[in-house]
Amino acid sequence: MSNTINTSVYAFMGGTFDPIHNGHLRTALEIRDWLNVGQVALMPSKVPVHRQQPGAESGQRLAMVEAAVAAEPGLCAEAREILSEKPSYTVLTLESLRAELGDKAPICMILGMDAYLSLPGWDRWQELLKLAHIVVVTRPGWVYQPDKAMQAFTRAHEVTDKQRLLTAPAGQVIFHELTPLAISATQIRTLVSQGNSPRYLLPDSVWQYIQQQQLYGCKLI
Ligand code: ATP
Ligand code: MG
Repeated sequence: MSNTINTSVYAFMGGTFDPIHNGHLRTALEIRDWLNVGQVALMPSKVPVHRQQPGAESGQRLAMVEAAVAAEPGLCAEAREILSEKPSYTVLTLESLRAELGDKAPICMILGMDAYLSLPGWDRWQELLKLAHIVVVTRPGWVYQPDKAMQAFTRAHEVTDKQRLLTAPAGQVIFHELTPLAISATQIRTLVSQGNSPRYLLPDSVWQYIQQQQLYGCKLI
């Protein structure tokens, strides 16, 4: 297989990143290497449209993503949702990416299994594949148990050969197994709010930022 980096392919992972953790970072890096795309963008959402919860402000979540990727050239932070005046609907984000990248560039959107199974609740979800491919990654605690709509959606679009993603702009779903890391931002927020250390679940730079900003009920020690 050729080692040439697929520079025309845009791969990204969206999320609340409240805060970003090693589950996100390891996922993005493994997909970078698997698709050989050079870089994967991590894109924090401005407003969590699919849920409501207390946490860090948009700017703080972006700052944590920036701190997390600073020393890794294979990852970058993408601020377009945070900077947009519109709410963070994925379909709008994909439209803006498509307008920028043109009709031909493959766009790969990485989703954890939990996010993939929640797709039917997303705005204009049936249109997402007109704009991008979906790379579904395994996540400990989540098995693929689709409802009828998702089962039909997967059957219609699933491929098993990643070359199919790299040679078409959009339209396919592929599943990929990762090093399992049972880490969630919820777990980290809980640890911090209870006065426990979340160290080694996320980069030290992010943990330092949480302490400096006193996020998630963190008390200065
Ligand atoms: P929260 O507990 O607040 O929901 P989270 O850890 O689920 O946070 P999100 O920002 O909600 O993080 O997730 C962003 C994306 O990252 C989603 O597609 C999610 O499925 C994926 N993801 C999060 N944690 C992991 C993990 N440990 N392994 C694989 N994928 C993950
Ligand atoms: Mg989540």
